[in-house]
Formats: sequence, structure tokens, C-alpha cells
Amino acid sequence: MRIVLIIFLLTSVIYSFGQLGSITGFVFDRGQGKGLSSANIVLDGTTIGCASDSKGNFRLDSVPFGQYRIRIGMVACDTTMTVNVNGHVKMEVTFPPPCKYDMAVNDNRCPRCHRRDKSIPINYGLLVLARGTKRREYYDGGCDISCCMPNWYCKRDKLKF
Ligand SMILES: [Zn+2]
Repeated sequence: MRIVLIIFLLTSVIYSFGQLGSITGFVFDRGQGKGLSSANIVLDGTTIGCASDSKGNFRLDSVPFGQYRIRIGMVACDTTMTVNVNGHVKMEVTFPPPCKYDMAVNDNRCPRCHRRDKSIPINYGLLVLARGTKRREYYDGGCDISCCMPNWYCKRDKLKF
């Protein structure tokens, strides 16, 4: 009788703590208009991850139930979103996410000389003191967050716009 009770307790513990779900998804490449291959997919704070296949599909199995931040991206650039795993989750992600500095939207014509030939995109960045050291580290700016180029700089007029 005691053994049966222990087994019952054990199985109920495993049942309540060991529930596993899965995530399948599709990463859409905004620039190419098709699935994005070899994108890295990682659940923050876990070792669970994979890469999208040649068609942009991915699958994560054996994901313990819970809420995660899923990180989807390429080298030096990614996007995150919250995903709640309580069974099987399907998701579709467009990459890169929309950006207010998108070059396709943002005109690079200089407002002063009205030409584009000397316009270069600017990467904003920040130099910060690394924690506990005297070393300065460079942190990339908004460009890396949404994977697009921010504002323009006209080299002729030395004007930022
Ligand atoms: Zn100009």
C-alpha cells in the first residue's frame, strides 16, 4: 500500500512539473519575400534552440511549459518576442521587424544640397564603462535592434538628417 502511494505521488509530481510543449514556426524574410534559412532561434535563459531550415521553418521540442522570450535572428541582429508554451505553439515571424529608419521608407536626399551622392547612413552607438572595469565598451545603437540603418549624414554639407 505504501509503495503504491509513493508511486502515485511520484507520478503526480512528474506530471505537474514535467509537462512539455513544442514550438513550430516560420521565419519570413522581409527583404527577400520568402522563408529565411539559417536564422538562429533561442529561448532566452535556456539551452533550447535551433536554426531555421532552408525554407525558413523551425521546430523546438521538449519545451517545459512556461513563458519565454524567444530570440530570432542572424549574426549581430535579432528580434525578441514573448511566447507562452502550454502545449503546441505555432508562430510566424517577419524578419527584420519594421523600423522607422528603414532606408526604403526614409529618403536619403539631403535637405540642403538636395542630392543623394554624399549621403551615408549613420550608425548610432554608445561608449560605456564596462561594469567593474576601467575598460570602455562600444554598444551599438538602434540599428542593431531593428536591423536597419538609421538616419543619414551628408558629407558635403556636414549635415545630419
Ligand atoms: Zn547635402
